[in-house]
Amino acid sequence: MDLRSLEEDMTVWRRDLHAHPEFGFEEKRTSSFVAAKLREFGFDDVTESVGGTGVVGTLKRGSGNRSIALRADMDALRITEQGTMAYRSRNPGVMHACGHDGHTAMLLGAAKMLAEEAGFDGTVRFIFQPAEEWGKGALAMLDHRLMERFPFEEIYGLHNMPGLPVGHFETRDGPIMSAEDNFEIILKGVGGHAARPHWGNEVLVAACALVTNLQTIVSRRLSPTDIGVVSVTELITDGTRNALPGMARILGDARSFRPEISAEIEKQMRIIAEGTALSYNVVAEVAYTREFVPLLNDAALVDEAFAAARSVFDADHISAAREPMTASEDFARFLEHMPGCFVFVGNGRESAPLHNPTYDFNDAGLLFGARFHAAIVRQRLPLP
Ligand SMILES: [Zn+2]
Ligand SMILES: [Zn+2]
Repeated sequence: MDLRSLEEDMTVWRRDLHAHPEFGFEEKRTSSFVAAKLREFGFDDVTESVGGTGVVGTLKRGSGNRSIALRADMDALRITEQGTMAYRSRNPGVMHACGHDGHTAMLLGAAKMLAEEAGFDGTVRFIFQPAEEWGKGALAMLDHRLMERFPFEEIYGLHNMPGLPVGHFETRDGPIMSAEDNFEIILKGVGGHAARPHWGNEVLVAACALVTNLQTIVSRRLSPTDIGVVSVTELITDGTRNALPGMARILGDARSFRPEISAEIEKQMRIIAEGTALSYNVVAEVAYTREFVPLLNDAALVDEAFAAARSVFDADHISAAREPMTASEDFARFLEHMPGCFVFVGNGRESAPLHNPTYDFNDAGLLFGARFHAAIVRQRLPLP
């Protein structure tokens, strides 16, 4: 196969997807685009509307009965693009600021390559998932009986990484991306005149103390060798210029790599919220939810992915010792059901950060991603 012409195709697809970003579960144009391409490549089966707007394509070659899955995400973010390129977002307020346009184009590139050239024996499931960004798309596909309808034994996925040079590959075994928990603490008291705080029990001073006290969960309640992050991101009250608030909402986000740590953060948060509220004579209500589970790579399949990467990337540009990241990935949900491996590929040293309004996926990385997908298929489903 002419890899240069495949790269040109993927660049055209990627820029088309970039110009037409769609938010999670609204990926109608994107999923139609993906399904049409897979049919054009001659796929044995293409099923749309799996878990909302998800697409699953199946490619079978030879007589092997093993099956593996490759996964890409298709959704964009509610961010207004500041880029000026010709293919910038035409959907106001929505943009591909995480490079899922690139991930989709790379998996389509691998689909075209494997449909034309094969070089494997068995079944490959191409999973294009919706709504990665808010951690609901993988569950929606699993709830729609993904595993029963399209069985597979292991799964691989990738994400582009700003700061890592193009042509570089990194992964690790065990935890590579964190869980994400969200919390909302509501303080209730009695607001009143700003000139007479002693007549009520306003909540703003209590809320400020609570925000400070929450900082001790990581610094004083977790072991120094455990990783956790507790970030308060919003503090909202019903106060106004000359009236003290009777209600304060504190919202935030916590990250960890092990369920025990997540449980400990929640437990300590409840103790601190109730204790602080008591000391200010107000009432605290804590709601704590788990949005993303930690992403745990399978050690044996990390070795397989690393070996496949050797055939695509320069030997000194691959690493299986990537530091874990306290960001989260919906891919982790698939790994609750079967082993797999998630990897990072370079988006360039000069790349804007993910979720930044000037971010753009680097097309120079397309061929690396597509070739890695194809390499892992050929390695795990070898010809007899
Ligand atoms: Zn993202
Ligand atoms: Zn992403």
